[in-house]
Amino acid sequence: MNEESKPDTRRPLVADWQHLMRTFIRPEDEASREVLTKYMSQILFGLQDFLASHLGVTRERTLKELAGVHSDTRLSPLPEKKLDEIISDLIEEVAPHAVNVSSPYFIGHMTSAIPFFMVHLRTIVAALNQNVVKLETSKIFSVIEKQVLAKIHRMVFNRQEAFYRRYVQDPASALGAFTENGTLANFTALWAARNRLLPGIEAEGVHAAYRNKGVRRCVVLASRLGHYSLRKAAGLLGIGNQQLVPVEVDSRWRIDAGKLSRTVRDLARPGRETAVLAVVGIAGATETGTVDPLEALADICAEHGIHFHVDAAWGGPTLMSESYAGLLSGIERADSVTIDGHKQFYMPMTCGMVLFKDPNALDAVTYHAHYINRPGSVDLGIRSISGSREATSLILGCALKVMGTRGYALLIDHGIETARIFAEQIRRREDFELVSEPELNILTYRLCPGPLKRKLASCTFEEKKAVNEHLNRLNRDVQRLQREEGKSFVSRTTLCGPGTGNQEIVVLRAVLMNPMTGPGILEEILDEQERILHRIGGAAPEQEPPV
Ligand SMILES: *Cc1c(COP(=O)(O)O)cnc(C)c1O
Repeated sequence: MNEESKPDTRRPLVADWQHLMRTFIRPEDEASREVLTKYMSQILFGLQDFLASHLGVTRERTLKELAGVHSDTRLSPLPEKKLDEIISDLIEEVAPHAVNVSSPYFIGHMTSAIPFFMVHLRTIVAALNQNVVKLETSKIFSVIEKQVLAKIHRMVFNRQEAFYRRYVQDPASALGAFTENGTLANFTALWAARNRLLPGIEAEGVHAAYRNKGVRRCVVLASRLGHYSLRKAAGLLGIGNQQLVPVEVDSRWRIDAGKLSRTVRDLARPGRETAVLAVVGIAGATETGTVDPLEALADICAEHGIHFHVDAAWGGPTLMSESYAGLLSGIERADSVTIDGHKQFYMPMTCGMVLFKDPNALDAVTYHAHYINRPGSVDLGIRSISGSREATSLILGCALKVMGTRGYALLIDHGIETARIFAEQIRRREDFELVSEPELNILTYRLCPGPLKRKLASCTFEEKKAVNEHLNRLNRDVQRLQREEGKSFVSRTTLCGPGTGNQEIVVLRAVLMNPMTGPGILEEILDEQERILHRIGGAAPEQEPPV
């Protein structure tokens, strides 16, 4: 907002009871109704226009400048602006410095364009202001939440009709929970798993529980591509984040099931005094989009009686696609599954979900209070890490009705197929190298000038290291310069595994989820990267490292 405002000659704004009451009462006459409608269309279309034209990752105004304009910490006793001015400010002064994640040239993150009806649904949720922590503040919304969870449960676990009839509205159990995001969904899954493995831990703490169980430590096993929320969960749950044991990946960035199996066996040996709290399979790794071999993981977990969690925060909705659901086969054997609504369900920020195969799994984390959530009550808050909570399930439930699973499948299929086209474009270019093949709709690649590509194919490990360090700098620079030019955006990460010759390499990461991103735009993005590479001299032979 522009806080260096000009001297104001209008009537000063006042804070009085009459004005205040007006903001609480619904517009009583046509005129004020029209004003409100005008505001809403200003928001819907003013922002749409802006979003159609602007990418917003530019250097136009630096973070430092923006921070400077937003450093006044005094609270104003008097109203400063009227709502229409605030909205204009937001559209003209704030939105231009936000990031236009809905641009088809923005292919760097798991945040993208959303269907416009999501904004309407979100507005309705805000207008009704239900609090699903308890029935007394939500009533039908608690019922809808259970129904939506059952639908998603069905998508994942596909149990019998009789099972869903029995549990969909059963107040004594829960098929899962809505959470703020995937981080808290993963946390909830491991929380329930921990409390089942170590009875008494919630009340008595880790020390007593370990003693009772006769163990010295608990570990969680996941591939080295596991999301960092798993580390947070291990820390918060008191088992220690160093006990999230990373398992090697294969050349396709999937967990090495053989190594996992050996690790589990090794940890079970007498004298190790170690319990495995959970094995986590990833269905759509954040960095590479790859899917772990879920069937093999399910076998290992079944053999050893280990909780099997699948982190499908990204990939879960792939189950709606007839063509690609098979990529996740084995997910139905999980004990718990994380799915994010604000990713491939295209919901507005934020919505996480955790589903449990066993409707009583969440009993392990119930909490009660005297004024709400009393024992025996049906309040959703009993089995939730959150207290007060928005009814995001309504948005998902309605979105599923508007789209149908077929509609969602069109988006999923388009993303995967666009990623394959993009991979092909990258392969065809002399100065590019595909690093991870797209299994879902995420891929990684890097700029690698032809001569260096040929050198890498034949040199020693040490020589490769020097070349890779050079390329890492190059790719970091190109990614940064492209972002700063503000026309398009891909993200960047560092990978290391058999797929990179076990060397750390900086890669560019593309997430293809925007249905408006087509092959032409992708070629433009690569052209731009190529231009930047040539401009900074990265393609010239004299820039090659001395190897
Ligand atoms: C995004 C993501 C998460 C975390 O989800 P948030 O909603 O950002 O908290 C966890 N796991 C995977 C695989 C993800 O892609």
